[in-house]
This record gives sequence, structure tokens and C-alpha cells, in this order.
Amino acid sequence: VLEVNKLNKSFGGTHVLKDVDLSLEKGETMAIIGPSGSGKSTLLRCINCLERAEKGKIILDGITIAEEKNGITEYLPDEQLRDARLHLGMVFQNFNLFPHLNVLENLTLAPINVDHVSKEKAAATAMDLLKKVGLADRADAYPCELSGGQSQRVAIARALAMDPDILCFDEPTSALDPELTGEVLQVIKGLAAEHMTMLIVTHEMGFAKEVASQVVFMDDGRILERGTPDELLVNPKEARIRSFLDKLL
Ligand code: ATP
Ligand code: MG
Repeated sequence: VLEVNKLNKSFGGTHVLKDVDLSLEKGETMAIIGPSGSGKSTLLRCINCLERAEKGKIILDGITIAEEKNGITEYLPDEQLRDARLHLGMVFQNFNLFPHLNVLENLTLAPINVDHVSKEKAAATAMDLLKKVGLADRADAYPCELSGGQSQRVAIARALAMDPDILCFDEPTSALDPELTGEVLQVIKGLAAEHMTMLIVTHEMGFAKEVASQVVFMDDGRILERGTPDELLVNPKEARIRSFLDKLL
């Protein structure tokens, strides 16, 4: 469902992504790991078109959304790009819930306004999703009344409400107290068991090992190694990855 070819992105003079190739099949969960500043968030933001790459190609669900022409990557026109981006859901480190809307409204806003789903249908879907993340009883609560773990579960339900083909997570648990990460990881594991296609930037190696079908290690803007969790997290070829993993222990 997702194919990224030779993606390059710079900020000013800083070359942040260097010829990144990625390919994700339907139903797969890919974990992206690597040191701080290696470009993991930038890669997700480029895939989501929150940032625009200068070079390379992105194909999403068979739609070429960015492609190099005469050495420079061009994107689809705005309207088509907006439609294509609906195939992607995004969950951020800091939840980014709408503070002035209650939980139910956070989930129904985009389906009603973007997908033109009826209010009743959007609310019914939202309640199903809240049940799924264990928060059916908090539909009327406001974000400020939720714990971090609950907020992140609402953010996941909100992303699912748009029925994305791929769900992207950028360090979904790193803003949480340790005792709250488990409930969020549990929800993501449940989605993996249902074969939701996911791209997850994470520092939780145990979790990556458990849910990912593929792990990629980024270092200095490049993918240094890729493989199954066993290949990459247990027996990495690269000494650089071994020392990264050792430091986490
Ligand atoms: P972390 O694990 O700390 O989240 P990361 O792997 O997600 O790190 P990125 O946030 O993608 O790393 O950043 C990669 C590099 O790009 C860093 O050197 C960062 O300073 C730079 N960078 C990221 N966003 C911008 C921006 N908007 N403007 C300028 N430089 C940026
Ligand atoms: Mg990051």
C-alpha cells in the first residue's frame, strides 16, 4: 500500500533524509527505530505530506502522490493530494486532541465535515471505536479531564474514525508516564492482531519486537539496516545498531 523511493529532504543546508526507500504491504506493521535526530519524524511527516521532499517518489494505495520530474519532486495538485492523504491516519506524541471539543466530538468532527457522514452515523461509529479502545464511558469528557494514556487512546480512535488504510504513529508513548504506556501499546497490539497496516516510530524495543513484521533502523538520514525483529533487534549486522540497542538496556 505504500512505496517510498529515494526520498530526500533538507532543511536549509541540513540534509535530513538521504535516499530513503520503504515499502509496506497491506496488513504489515513496520517499526522505525534509531537515534534522536536520525530523521524518523521527518520521514513520517514527508509520507504524510506535512513536509515536502525535494527528491524521490511516494506511491500511496496505487496513487503516485509525489514524483521526480526533471530532478525535482512534484506533488499532486492540492485537492487530489488532500484526498490521497485521507488514506493515512496520524497519531502524534502529544495527542493533539481538540481541547474545546469533547471526546465524541473529537471523533466525529472529521467524518462529518470531511467525509460528509451523517451526524448519527458518525456518532455510532465513534462509540464503536471508543468501545474498542476501552473508553466508551468517557464520550462526554473533555481532553483536559483525561489522563495521557486515555488521551492517546482517544487520538487513536479519532484516527481510526476516518477509516485509514495506513495508521502512522510518531512515538505514541514517549510523552506518557511509564505506567500509562501499557494501555496504549495494548490498543496498538490489538490493531496489529486485526492486521491494520501501521508505521510506528518507537523507542519501545520490546513492543517493536512483539508487533512489527519489519523493523528499519535509521541513522543520520539513511536506513542503515532492515529486517525482521529477530534479525534486527536480536542479531543486527551493523555494530552501530548493536551499540544503540546496548545503550537502551
Ligand atoms: P527524535 O528521536 O529526537 O524524535 P527524529 O529521528 O525524529 O528524532 P527528526 O525530528 O526527523 O529526527 O529530525 C532530523 C533532523 O532534522 C534533526 O537534525 C532536526 O534538527 C532537523 N529538523 C527537523 N525538523 C526541522 C525543521 N522544521 N526545520 C529545521 N530542521 C529540522
Ligand atoms: Mg522524532
